[in-house]
Amino acid sequence: MLENKNNQSVCGYCKGIESEVQYKTFDIFDNHFTINKCKSCNAYFLAPRPTPEQIAQAYDSSYYGEKEEKFSSPLVEKTLDYFRSGRARNVSKFLNTGAKVLDVGCGNGRFLKYLLKFGSFELYGTEMEGNSAKRASRVKEITLKTGTLNAGDFPDNFFDAVSLFHVFEHLAEPKETLETISKIVKPGGIAVFSFPNIASFQARFFKGKWLHLDPPRHLFFFDPKDFIKIMESKGFKTVKQHYFSFEQNPFGAVQSFLNLTTKKREVLFESMKGNKDYIKEYSKFNLLIQKLFFLFSMPFFAFSDIFSSLLNKSATVEITFIKKLPL
Ligand SMILES: [Zn+2]
Repeated sequence: MLENKNNQSVCGYCKGIESEVQYKTFDIFDNHFTINKCKSCNAYFLAPRPTPEQIAQAYDSSYYGEKEEKFSSPLVEKTLDYFRSGRARNVSKFLNTGAKVLDVGCGNGRFLKYLLKFGSFELYGTEMEGNSAKRASRVKEITLKTGTLNAGDFPDNFFDAVSLFHVFEHLAEPKETLETISKIVKPGGIAVFSFPNIASFQARFFKGKWLHLDPPRHLFFFDPKDFIKIMESKGFKTVKQHYFSFEQNPFGAVQSFLNLTTKKREVLFESMKGNKDYIKEYSKFNLLIQKLFFLFSMPFFAFSDIFSSLLNKSATVEITFIKKLPL
């Protein structure tokens, strides 16, 4: 087998060995990487692949939040609940009573729980071991699998809906997971994905300092057009593409702009998560200025995201696929 000499730039999706460096990036632990574009499958991926130690460090308790919830501010959690509820409403429109729904990377399980506001469904979730999984395990309506989704975890054609909200880009074995998902969704069922849009205006403008690159947790990215081609090759049809996201996109612009002005990245975001150690060299005044920039620029970035979304160039995308019935 052909092996890349130093194994530094193997594609995270197709394992192709030929890629082109797009730009440099770095994480909050000051590890340095590049974003490469695979010449075989067009995936953009983080190179070199982060080590298990770097990954473990990035997912320690400060990622999921030390306390009961991920964010220290109740207002932020309230706002997130509002968006989870909206997602649940959208997904529920595709579901009949009793539908089986799997949320891969279900976090605290609140999206699944919100589904029950819109109907009676059987809920399943997977989540990696940690504080979020503990929170999800306390939701009694959810059948939770701790760990990754693997082939054979569920029978073929089992689910009416499988969702991955900002999860796909984290997967260690995305190709295998996509294969598994395409099997466990039943014909006529849906698969919903949201992920950062590497073809967005934000990605192209901010490059390595773009918030949604989120190294080293985000391992690879697809231009939505290429992702749709992959899903279509697996027997799915696109039923909905949604680019505008007040939850994800305006803040992406705010934080990425701030990243241009600070040595460290994601200072405001980490301060909102209560990561005091990370922000210790930034004065209260500096953080206040960053917060004010956030408050005053949000309406502008929300407005500009409406225009970006018309061109499919918003910072994130949500795509809903339906699995075609066998011929
Ligand atoms: Zn590839």
